Amino acid sequence: MKKFFKIAGISLLILMVLLGGALGLFVYKVKNGFPVSYETDPPELTIPSEGRNVLLFSKTTGFRHEESILAGIAKFEELATKEGWFLYQTESAGIFNVEQLGRFDAVIFNNSTGRVLTDEQRIILKEYVESGGKLIGIHGAGDDSHHWDWYEQSLLGAKFSHHPLNPQLQEAEVKLDEGAEAALAEGLENNWEHTDEWYIFFENPRVKGFDILYTINGDEIIPDGNLLWMKDKNWGMGEDHPVAWSKRIGEGKTFYTSMGHHAEVWEQEPFIEMLINAVNWE
Ligand SMILES: [Zn+2]
Repeated sequence: MKKFFKIAGISLLILMVLLGGALGLFVYKVKNGFPVSYETDPPELTIPSEGRNVLLFSKTTGFRHEESILAGIAKFEELATKEGWFLYQTESAGIFNVEQLGRFDAVIFNNSTGRVLTDEQRIILKEYVESGGKLIGIHGAGDDSHHWDWYEQSLLGAKFSHHPLNPQLQEAEVKLDEGAEAALAEGLENNWEHTDEWYIFFENPRVKGFDILYTINGDEIIPDGNLLWMKDKNWGMGEDHPVAWSKRIGEGKTFYTSMGHHAEVWEQEPFIEMLINAVNWE
């Protein structure tokens, strides 16, 4: 009997160590991206010289929103046919070279997370935006796994804190903001009901000079994101809780929406209309 308890105790201890290790690795991956991988070979690709060229980039080294990423790719392929865009979708960063990147009208980080570009590729993307390009970020593209100051300041204007966990997905009324950039707001739905994982940021991008396109009332969601040892995540952004915003950076533009966690969002018409406007924004 004694032996049984000894074996059971040791087994339990091993199980706890394994679970603790797996959880620790998961948290590290979500916060930093792991394993980090870089691609530098340019793809063989013919990019049209006329029309609107869109680069859809879905590489992740941090948290992977697999279902939303796949649904997003399928939807963008459909939109490209409908809107007459040339679409190149990839998870390889080799496309981030001066010559090829410069041929695109918009670069979309489709739930791209973690450290996905080399230092050189980062400089190329920064210069692409500042000289007239457009960077669009969807949901996970705004979490805190990227570790890149320019990206955070130019695309987000705010640092990600957490998202609700209890419950994770909540319904809210999405409202068009009066200060929205006119070309982005054109023809968009004023008020719509939407269920998503509402990201909470430490700052409001509005006070950082970003034009807010859509907000929710942060007082009407349950912001609690406390988990295990994290006990400081039970707060929200208040009534003025932006969920989509934009900025002009140099000659170029950035647009970010924190919506886009689950695959169903890609069936949500107002969300799609918003992204079409973002891609077509001139
Ligand atoms: Zn998410």
